[in-house]
Amino acid sequence: MILDALLTEALRSHLPKIVEPIELVASLDNSPTSAKITELLGELDVLSADINVRFDGSAERRPSFRITRVTDPHASVTFGGVPLGHEFTSLVLALLQVGGHPSTADADLLDQIRGIEGTHRFETFFSLSCQNCPDVVQALNLMSIINPNIEHVALDGGAFQDEVAAREVMAVPTVFRNGEKFGQGRMTLEELVAMIDSRSSDRAVEKIAAMDPFDVLIVGGGPAGSSAAVYAARKGLRTAIVAERFGGQLLDTMGIENLISTPYTEGPKLAAELEDNVRNHQVEIITAQRAERIDPAPRIGGLHTLTLESGAALQARSLIISTGARWRRMGVPGEAEYANRGVAYCPHCDGPLYKGKRTAVIGGGNSGVEAAIDLAGIVKHVTLLEFGDELRADEVLQNKLRSLSNVTIVTSAMTTEVLGDDKKVTALTYRSRADETDHQVDLDGIFVQIGLLPNTEWLDGTVQLSEHNEIMIDGHGATSVPGVFAAGDCTTVPFKQIVVSMGAGSTAMLSVFDHLIRTPQDTNVSA
Ligand code: FAD
Repeated sequence: MILDALLTEALRSHLPKIVEPIELVASLDNSPTSAKITELLGELDVLSADINVRFDGSAERRPSFRITRVTDPHASVTFGGVPLGHEFTSLVLALLQVGGHPSTADADLLDQIRGIEGTHRFETFFSLSCQNCPDVVQALNLMSIINPNIEHVALDGGAFQDEVAAREVMAVPTVFRNGEKFGQGRMTLEELVAMIDSRSSDRAVEKIAAMDPFDVLIVGGGPAGSSAAVYAARKGLRTAIVAERFGGQLLDTMGIENLISTPYTEGPKLAAELEDNVRNHQVEIITAQRAERIDPAPRIGGLHTLTLESGAALQARSLIISTGARWRRMGVPGEAEYANRGVAYCPHCDGPLYKGKRTAVIGGGNSGVEAAIDLAGIVKHVTLLEFGDELRADEVLQNKLRSLSNVTIVTSAMTTEVLGDDKKVTALTYRSRADETDHQVDLDGIFVQIGLLPNTEWLDGTVQLSEHNEIMIDGHGATSVPGVFAAGDCTTVPFKQIVVSMGAGSTAMLSVFDHLIRTPQDTNVSA
């Protein structure tokens, strides 16, 4: 049995939602992956009378299988390899949506997808351990199902290693359109539609520009912003949340074991739950938009203006900034040039692409050492480089790392350059701070794990920042500007954690409420 009891149960509960018969057609070869596809399709066949399975497919790319609506062959998606692991949900959704079960995506967005013209043949390379991949796979699958101009093949990179090498796929997800590289990394349905449909950005700007002022505008949709939004809605405030990507760092987080209500969850799952909960409250959610500037209210009680990079502007009586943080870059020559061509930041996502290869991890804190331990189980060899004289990770992690035979630890090492052959990374160089000697490590992949930077550049000169560019806040989450509050990883809060950010979001929002009821609204001015 390829499907364990849990997966079989999940399918049993979902497959009755199929309303139109579907056909699964496999194109196989003699590989072990083909045997697994045969097993998987056989098990799906017996789980639903609406599923018919055939093994006589004529697709060029093998092993793969195509899911098609019997009454409308345009409604189809193709998987190359076995979409289990993180892609199991994509498989279930594909079965249901090809089978006529409606998507829960925004109705306007679905209409927009139906209206996309031209020919768009998408191929997405994913890995079964990549948390960022399902969003992309599911978004393109949905497009392929509802618009006959769009086709999508989702490929497990692990099952198509030769193609991965030939097409220079160095990170997942990587998307090709009509044979050309189209995008890399996590992309939401909205973002993908915006990339395909050039008119969508103008429509979004028009929609935002027509919005009336809010009581509170939250910038950032991670744990801090979500928590603030729920508190605001429960206080009856007219609320909007603007986020480049709803979920923030949760989208890059594998296992979470310190969320107090549950022993274990995963970042993308928590992010989806937060978004659902916020959507279930009266909150205007504006995603795929980056904040560019704040113009604080000229008078107490007036309106603050938030300008977005798209050119649209929003106004509100109060603001909460919760723009979080991002991976810190090394800032050495070659890093930007080879990003996603050997330089990676998410070991959970991209680690499997380096199976049997030589890699380095930069950074000897908890995340670097965890990444090195994780990679050591997949790759041929890991060199861990730490700038300081000793590792900074917890003792238990260091002990585990030192017990691994395929790991070399180098301390007092300052990475100086990423080298490559124009196509991909081939080596890195570092200078030993102990004896000033230069060294080269030949390798295929570099995982950078040297901490986080607050997303506050766009605020320069508006609210007071610390020497580390974190927003200075008091115990109420208040910034140096009246009516502007902040919460989470972008602030001077000493601990950057999910529950800390959630608590900070609620603190900031309760402070906003306090501020609003004590501050008479200036009705004479618009800004
Ligand atoms: P973020 O989660 O960073 O969210 C920021 C939001 O702001 C996002 O929506 C982003 O798109 C948006 N944004 C940023 N700039 C702009 C802009 N200019 N305009 C509009 N929107 C913008 N914590 C734990 O407690 N447990 C763990 O196990 C754990 N594991 C982690 C693993 C990894 C790999 C990482 C990276 C972090 C982990 N953390 C963990 C830390 C935790 O994820 C963060 O502390 C938490 O997400 C911070 O929440 P936040 O809302 O402040 O910011």
